[in-house]
Amino acid sequence: MPICQNCGCKWTWRETFAKMFTFKNKIRCPSCNTSQYISKKSRNQLSLFTVIPFLIWIPFVSFGVPLVYILVLEFVSYALVLMGMPYLYKLSNEEEPMW
Ligand SMILES: [Zn+2]
Repeated sequence: MPICQNCGCKWTWRETFAKMFTFKNKIRCPSCNTSQYISKKSRNQLSLFTVIPFLIWIPFVSFGVPLVYILVLEFVSYALVLMGMPYLYKLSNEEEPMW
């Protein structure tokens, strides 16, 4: 779970999950109200993580798994990725450049 670099409070899964959908790098700490940024390292991890559902179906298709099962699996993996994302959030006091 992300920890605020300013006040040191630990954000809850629910707070982080809600903030994820603002799609901004700058997020406000619910406790001290200062701006926090998603660290570069965790942004990289997040982008790798979200790629998983896009790749997961490839081996199943080559094994001839019926499309219905693959669709269910896709749905489940998207849900798991979304639910797991708050755990990968790490915060930083300053905005780090993308590259
Ligand atoms: Zn804080």
